[in-house]
Amino acid sequence: MKADPTLPSEPYIGGNVRQRPLREIVEHAQQLTYNLGAGTAAGTAHLWGFCRSCEFAELCRGGDTFTAHSFFDRRGNHPYCHHRALVQDRRGLRERLAPRMPASGRPYDNGVFEIIEEGRDDPWPGTDPLRFTAEDIRWPPDWPADDGTAGVEVGAVPVRNPPPDGLDGAAPLLPRSPWSSSFSLMSELIRAKRALDRAEREEAEGALPLERPHASHQVSTTP
Ligand code: SF4
Repeated sequence: MKADPTLPSEPYIGGNVRQRPLREIVEHAQQLTYNLGAGTAAGTAHLWGFCRSCEFAELCRGGDTFTAHSFFDRRGNHPYCHHRALVQDRRGLRERLAPRMPASGRPYDNGVFEIIEEGRDDPWPGTDPLRFTAEDIRWPPDWPADDGTAGVEVGAVPVRNPPPDGLDGAAPLLPRSPWSSSFSLMSELIRAKRALDRAEREEAEGALPLERPHASHQVSTTP
């Protein structure tokens, strides 16, 4: 029994139901009950780093256990918290994670990372493997560039997959483009989905009778 299947195994396995009663594990195993204690001093005793001094510490209690433990081998300090990033940004700071110890390789294990606090506008280290940009994407050789010149004959209609039976034309290909284009594409898709939802709602509402007849007013159709 684990507190949550996604959590690292070693620290969060509370017991085996073949060896201990389920109730005993759920109610008493420290690995499953660690998150109790909200509203008491014990509820925030595990916090450290930024989360310890956070104004929302008592309410939030360090955010996501999985993320914190996966990075630092202990919970109580969430490096990917949006509030934290905004506070640090206002202070002119940013945080970077650097790997320090690799995971052992066992299922649901974790390594250890270090938080490096630095100036918000400091240059990024050129060798940081965790800083991923659009330039780092390795595109398949046949993926066309925005101008359609890479990987396909200019003017040709790129075909990635044959169109489904009954549909004419080639399946559209997403362009090789910076993320900004992907965001605008996503916005288009969301807008289209909302328009479809709205049309379906209106159709459903239009199909409903405006007023349901009262039982005593119904006309019998039997002779
Ligand atoms: S996860 Fe964020 S909001 Fe929660 S305690 Fe940590 S810094 Fe504060």
